[in-house]
Amino acid sequence: MEYKRILLKLSGESLMGRQGYGIDAVRLDEYAWQIGEIVQKGIQVAIVIGGGNIFRGLSGASKGFDRYKGDQMGMLATVINSLAMASALQSVGVRSRVMTSIRMEPVGEFYSQPKALDALDAGEVVIISGGTGNPYFTTDTASALRGIELHVDVMLKGTRVDGVYSADPEKDPTAQKFDSISFDEVYQKGLKVMDLTATTMCKENGLPILVFNMDQPGNLMKVLNGEKIGTLVH
Ligand code: UDP
Repeated sequence: MEYKRILLKLSGESLMGRQGYGIDAVRLDEYAWQIGEIVQKGIQVAIVIGGGNIFRGLSGASKGFDRYKGDQMGMLATVINSLAMASALQSVGVRSRVMTSIRMEPVGEFYSQPKALDALDAGEVVIISGGTGNPYFTTDTASALRGIELHVDVMLKGTRVDGVYSADPEKDPTAQKFDSISFDEVYQKGLKVMDLTATTMCKENGLPILVFNMDQPGNLMKVLNGEKIGTLVH
């Protein structure tokens, strides 16, 4: 296997599946199967899920919500998505635990790095919810932070496109896909892989990011098998 311990970042929007809102049970189930497949192979899996399918602090602020409260709403949205993922994993027989970056037992256990490491070593999927626990951050940054803390080998950013392109492939037919790109090129070309805070944390701590299409069943396993799909940022 290409990697032993990974952090999988899923956006909240990816959970909407074919619906325009909320959580699509079919999509969630597809993801749970893919995660189960790699857990069976002995891969240690930490997951961070966004909340954009339910609430984003910044877009709330543009509609008049207080940003601080809006960000707290966004962080709570990530907890809802994480509980949904834990439930989907349970239904396919994968052991997982939800940790929260904001104290809220019994919904989830308060996040601690040693406890998360113990759970990973014991073969449990650890879903870390509540972002960083602080407003003005994103779940991309939470993924970078937790990935670095948990010494993962790679951050896998599961998206609906198959990698990083020179322009938006959904808008520009001349857009070129990169198989591999350096952090410096990401800055120079102004590419949107993750937000800059997250990108910088990954660069400074040597955590590579692999962007790939998670909506294609079987792709997660392909990544772990070392097949050259997606774009590696390193
Ligand atoms: N959020 C936050 N601090 C964090 C992580 C997230 O305040 O450390 C809030 C923020 O309002 C954000 C929302 O939670 O808009 C949902 O997270 P994000 O936008 O990263 O979700 P995604 O785009 O991945 O669905």
